[in-house]
Amino acid sequence: MRPLPEQFQAYGWAMSTAEAARIAGVEPAQVLRFDGNTPPTPPEYATPGVLAPALAEIQRYPHGGFPSLLEAIAEYADVETSRVVLGAGADDLLLLSARAFAGPGDVVRVLDEPTYPLIRIAAWLAGAGVGDDDAVVTFCCRPHNPTGALGPVPSERPLVVDEAYYEFGGDTAAGLAGVVAIRTFSKAFALAAARVGYAIADEDVAEALVVRQDPLPITTLSAALALAALRAGPPDVSETIGERERMSRALDELGFAPLPSHANFVYVPTEKAGALYERLLAKGLVIRPFDGAIRITVHEPAANDRLLDALEQANR
Ligand code: PMP
Repeated sequence: MRPLPEQFQAYGWAMSTAEAARIAGVEPAQVLRFDGNTPPTPPEYATPGVLAPALAEIQRYPHGGFPSLLEAIAEYADVETSRVVLGAGADDLLLLSARAFAGPGDVVRVLDEPTYPLIRIAAWLAGAGVGDDDAVVTFCCRPHNPTGALGPVPSERPLVVDEAYYEFGGDTAAGLAGVVAIRTFSKAFALAAARVGYAIADEDVAEALVVRQDPLPITTLSAALALAALRAGPPDVSETIGERERMSRALDELGFAPLPSHANFVYVPTEKAGALYERLLAKGLVIRPFDGAIRITVHEPAANDRLLDALEQANR
């Protein structure tokens, strides 16, 4: 096998809910997760009935791919269908973009690090290195994970923009020349387990990406869910945004200084990240610790209140 670079670090999953429950001494159903940046409840459009037509033809390949889903995404994103590329989540499209633009001996530039770890992983798996000089492609995450910042679109080209949290920030680089904007149904559309994402690129780039990917990157079941999501209309993120702002104010009042966020999470600088993580975990509340900060995914109001209470106690 081809060796991986020395710096390579595989993607690391957060602890399972079953493990968190064991540590906290509670039932798994009592664990509240504030670490995955996904909505707390499944969407109304995820029903068995939505899957029925796909199940009735599950023995066959969907010859010709998913034209109606591509059209619905194009309409949602306000671009031509020929500019849309489907993938098994944004992750799949990050991996595809990295290997399409870069290979052994090339340098990939990753802006605003530390950021979503899969971006580096994608560059390394393509055989490329990560650095700043003579980069063949630049990646950025906008809105930024983990800080929630929404800076200007960088001027580098070609530019791959991870827009997983696009709906919560409202601004996009999709449609700009030389830009591949990568989005997902995992966040605002609440379909993380279905694994559907898409990229929007210049038409020639979209074509070049398609020929470099799996012939069928998603399943008919996932496509049916994504189509149902789009038919239900643009996702309503107003409640999440309202809760995000309420939590930020409450955190301020507790003496923290959360950063302004354009996503569905809040990034809170603190020297006590590790201790806070452990104390909250002992109560069945799972947040995401970083070096010098914690990140809290917006949950339902009652769950957010529980977290704020527990955080107040843990920080004393
Ligand atoms: N990009 C960013 C910035 C993310 O935070 C995540 C998920 N945590 C992803 C991509 C992965 O999205 P998907 O589920 O569509 O693969």
